[in-house]
Amino acid sequence: MRILVAFGTRPEIIKLGPVCQALQRRKDIDLSVFWSGQHIELAAGLLQLFEIDVTRNGSDVMREPGLASKFGRMTQEIDEELRSRRYEWLVVQGDTATAAAAATAGFLNHVKVAHVEAGLRTGRMYSPWPEEFNRRVVTLSSALHFAPTANARDNLLKEGVPAAQVLTVGNTVVDALIHVRKKVSHGYRPIDPAVAALPSDKKLVLATLHRRENIGAPIRRVLMALRELGQDGDKLIVLPVHLNPDVRAEVLRILGDVTNVRLLEPLQYPDFVHLLSRAWAVVSDSGGVQEEAPTFGLQVLITRDTTERPEVIDAGLGRLVGSDFDAIVEGVRRLTASDSPQLRFGNNPFGQGDASEQIADALIASRIANPFGRGDASEQIADALIASRVASKPALATSSPAPNCYRLT
Ligand code: UDP
Repeated sequence: MRILVAFGTRPEIIKLGPVCQALQRRKDIDLSVFWSGQHIELAAGLLQLFEIDVTRNGSDVMREPGLASKFGRMTQEIDEELRSRRYEWLVVQGDTATAAAAATAGFLNHVKVAHVEAGLRTGRMYSPWPEEFNRRVVTLSSALHFAPTANARDNLLKEGVPAAQVLTVGNTVVDALIHVRKKVSHGYRPIDPAVAALPSDKKLVLATLHRRENIGAPIRRVLMALRELGQDGDKLIVLPVHLNPDVRAEVLRILGDVTNVRLLEPLQYPDFVHLLSRAWAVVSDSGGVQEEAPTFGLQVLITRDTTERPEVIDAGLGRLVGSDFDAIVEGVRRLTASDSPQLRFGNNPFGQGDASEQIADALIASRIANPFGRGDASEQIADALIASRVASKPALATSSPAPNCYRLT
């Protein structure tokens, strides 16, 4: 069975890395990997970490000026790959432009699309933007939907996705964390010297900020709250700064030289996981970080107005604080008030770390017929036109239009 896995951004590589590994272990699968290049710098080290061989690279997509032109370019490049060989499945993940472009190209080429981390919804098209749009496009294009949780599965069923095409498997980020945690356990030497140099006598608060919809006044309020917390003296605020220039400018302006705040370059995944394992609390607008925190029993102050991961809140591990200065300051102070971190371990809502194996099993076992037919529709159309007995001016149909309809299988 020939499968193409397509990804572009850092979180996609993290979450599809274990899927590629699971597929590579199966002898019946011939795996190809397409990387759109949507994140280049942020992907550093990830391909090696998961031992992924990229079969085809996209070309310089980030030079395209807008989201629509990036989308067009990626669709075209994935289209070329899909036409070059006959793939049985195209696997995409999440809600990025790469995922939406690849899924669209898969749909238009009659290649079955399997969606990893399917069914996440906020219900608001502009929050997060454009991810809520992207994930709906991927759902429309997909023949198999790997939902991470029961809630995600229910979202799909409510939209009319047939239950037989939805499998609840957990989130592959847990698989990735288990893979990496082994490497960063006792005696780990951080890749980035700035991580190795962090003082260990303070309560570590890990922050990440990058969401587009927070740029401007909201991100400034969040940064002011982090600045205030740095002045408490007992905490160390660590913020790997995203490469987005608008985010960088605000961060440097407000936190450039502040006591007990360390600004780092984006971290390689093992270093980031290492910091998660040492953290007391997390302040983040990241989707992936919300899913990773439960593995470490960590509580997250989510600097967004909505989340498509309500499981984190239901499990008592997260709180939506938006960009509310007081809620962030009070929330972090509460989580760091005692002498040891307030960790909460229990059932991880995102699974136990076997999602990738389940996905590989399901793809191998898939008996789903291609809903788009066998590739002979044009011949059927030609046959029907030649054999047509339809009068040239049919009477207006008032009831069933059946005599004028052809079902192409
Ligand atoms: N991450 C990382 N280095 C960093 C910050 C985050 O490796 O400096 C990882 C993090 O562990 C998570 C993923 O990147 O798995 C989240 O990426 P991001 O926040 O960019 O995207 P989102 O999850 O919001 O789509």
